[in-house]
Amino acid sequence: MTLRQRCDHVNALYSSISAQGINPYFRPIAKTWGTEVEVEGRRLIMIGSNDYLGLSHDPRVMDASAKAVYEWGTGPGGSRFLSGNMVLHHQLEERLAAFVGKRGAVVHVTGFSTNMGALGVLVTPADTVICDRENHASIFEGIKNTRARLVTFAHNDAAQAMQRVEAAKASRPDGDVFLITEGVFSMSGELAVLDELAAIKEAHPDIIFYLDDAHGLGVFGRGGRGAADHFGITDKVDFIMGTFSKSMASIGGFIAADDEDMLRYLRYQSRTQIFSAALPAANTVAVLTCLDILEREPERVDRLHEVTMRMRQAYRDIGLRIGNSASPIIPIIIGSDEKAFQFSRALFEAGVFALPAVYPAVPRGQALIRTAYMSTHQDRQLDFVLTVLDRLAREFGVRECDMVAEPG
Ligand code: PMP
Repeated sequence: MTLRQRCDHVNALYSSISAQGINPYFRPIAKTWGTEVEVEGRRLIMIGSNDYLGLSHDPRVMDASAKAVYEWGTGPGGSRFLSGNMVLHHQLEERLAAFVGKRGAVVHVTGFSTNMGALGVLVTPADTVICDRENHASIFEGIKNTRARLVTFAHNDAAQAMQRVEAAKASRPDGDVFLITEGVFSMSGELAVLDELAAIKEAHPDIIFYLDDAHGLGVFGRGGRGAADHFGITDKVDFIMGTFSKSMASIGGFIAADDEDMLRYLRYQSRTQIFSAALPAANTVAVLTCLDILEREPERVDRLHEVTMRMRQAYRDIGLRIGNSASPIIPIIIGSDEKAFQFSRALFEAGVFALPAVYPAVPRGQALIRTAYMSTHQDRQLDFVLTVLDRLAREFGVRECDMVAEPG
């Protein structure tokens, strides 16, 4: 397809859903209070945010970020490699490493660029990368750039991952073998089978085990130390990658490891580190303040799980299909893309903000509404959301009981 044909194809898709008034994307939020937002003059309950601990609106985080602007200015003035490297970045690296249980860490400007930059220099064309099929786009993009052999395994199927590892080692003895998974899957809310994957690393210590814990950090493990901590397998993971755009109320990312030589290699070689500007001070200080709060108030994480467990049970009671969610991300499986767009619009009309995920973000025919909860959601907000969901589930026929096949 030519550029014009590709452009026309995408425009036709979005014009069609816009004409029906159901385009959910790029809707401008006019105001936000964290758990509530104003869009097109309506006040809505937000159940689509990754700010799981609600720290983005914590006055301590906001004050510290505002002060950082007055102390450091708004922009970093350069990449960390050259003129944008601040003591704040090094303080944050030490704190993060200690938090996730590794010796060191390297901070990047986004989570996406952390995966792109790290995988870009860790992996070469001689290597094989074995990935859970549902890994995030930034992992697949990062690997694509390396021209390594990419092999996927069925989602959370550790036995298949083991077979793939053994086959790769036998067929390409000169290359490295990487095993990559997320800690918590961003669309399904499922936890990875990290204990089983760690057993592969134990059986094959020469492989490189890389964990993207974007959605596990601040959510799982002791006081939010992440999914590896939750499973007690931190020492089996070679690289733990995380982002600041979810529980850490900021933007940015990091990669942590025990091997300090490897971290120095990443710091000096990752192209997204060298050729991209540093994380601004306000964002860096926001994360430092979140870590202070998390260390002092681990009960925030407990409250998040309380909210999550309540909502998961209530979804099941309504009869919604939520797959194997085990985290604050609870998908509502709808089916067709169009129905998901309509469901999202109906939520909007009823006062709830949650967006659909459609192919290719999820498998075809399994479009879903991605809902996500925060420790700061109040019970009255949750009650309201459940009343709306109960009504819409019936109206749209998306309950488990509506799915029973017609006899004959
Ligand atoms: N990894 C995962 C699993 C993600 O879900 C995301 C973003 N949603 C990223 C990486 C990229 O992180 P960021 O948005 O902080 O760039």
